[in-house]
Amino acid sequence: MRVSWSDGRLTFRLDPEDEITGRAADEHPVKLATNTCTIAGVPGDAHPDLFAVATWSIVAPWTRRRITFDRAVSAELAEALHDGWGIDAGPVAAEPRRTGRTLAISYSGGADSVAAAAIYPDAPFVHFRRVSHPRVPNRWPHYRSDVLAKLAARTGRELTTVASDLEFTLAEPRPGYPEHHAVAAGALLLADRLDLGGLAFGYELGSRWLGGDRYLLRYTPDNPMWAPHGAWGRLFAAAGVHIVLPVGGVSEAVTMRLALNSELKEHVRWCLIGTDGPCRNCAKCLYKEIIQAAVERRPLDTPVPATSAKARKWLRPPPYGGQEMIEYGLARIPGIEHTMFAGALEHFEATEESTGWLDHCYPPALDEIPEPWRARTADFMTAHVGLMTEAESRRVESWGA
Ligand SMILES: [Zn+2]
Repeated sequence: MRVSWSDGRLTFRLDPEDEITGRAADEHPVKLATNTCTIAGVPGDAHPDLFAVATWSIVAPWTRRRITFDRAVSAELAEALHDGWGIDAGPVAAEPRRTGRTLAISYSGGADSVAAAAIYPDAPFVHFRRVSHPRVPNRWPHYRSDVLAKLAARTGRELTTVASDLEFTLAEPRPGYPEHHAVAAGALLLADRLDLGGLAFGYELGSRWLGGDRYLLRYTPDNPMWAPHGAWGRLFAAAGVHIVLPVGGVSEAVTMRLALNSELKEHVRWCLIGTDGPCRNCAKCLYKEIIQAAVERRPLDTPVPATSAKARKWLRPPPYGGQEMIEYGLARIPGIEHTMFAGALEHFEATEESTGWLDHCYPPALDEIPEPWRARTADFMTAHVGLMTEAESRRVESWGA
């Protein structure tokens, strides 16, 4: 792969061994649509290692053996690419980037990201906003990135919104991030300006530790995407921007509770479809409604009919991603036996006691937060959530076994 940047525009050319259908770190197959994309408003003089990591978050699935940058990277950065992916990267000549002092939050507006924001009330936000690509037709016009950007702007936080068409480099399965980390491409290129040393993501317990995001559905201490010692964690660290997961130790029930109790609660939005509020009809709205109803201990309130395909995923026998939250909901939602989930009850023996571990924080997740920011999350979790007992931690560590 050969890559170059000019005025925020990335162009990449495949080498003979590269392939237009590749695999992301979560092993999902992704097909290339086009070899250019733009990230608006980023400086042209960012450290070359920042350009390298931002680039890698976009081109990694299609790169087989080597990557040639248009500016020299540090030996440390090249080593992280080699150790993590077996990729030869060059040219190599730059001094490594110094780790900055600021922690920013990669802010989506969803409950997980609002919960992360609640832990660090002074952290600035960087919000990724999808815009259309000049060369790729937008078949997903219902995705309301403008609504999410407006909500982010109303939070009152210091906010940088980064507009990019990078999701349209993906033809299949649909426009989206080539790697999950591509959401950070703009933040990385702004890292010198913002003096970033860490970037906080709203990935929670399921994504970090239960394999929910990798579709492995088992305990994943060595998660290559989010563990600090994983390939991506080491690559970000080599560029002086540590991956920080403030809510990596807690379930979506906890992030929902924290978000709904947060001063940002008016601005929470996980649905990408509705304009005046969540659409209530999409699969994501249904899933979040299960969590919210459980947290608020009220009956399920959804217009989605019991026969809907949107509900099918969770009516099948397990395992599946998000299963821990379905169990949590089945154990807590009053009258669940009279809803579309009546049949699902047969697959589980979930009780409040058996799902109680999902109300607490898994302590090893705190140890993973880099030192300058660890105490803040540890104190917050101790005060507002509570740490898992050893028996509860074993529920995490035996998940999927
Ligand atoms: Zn929706």
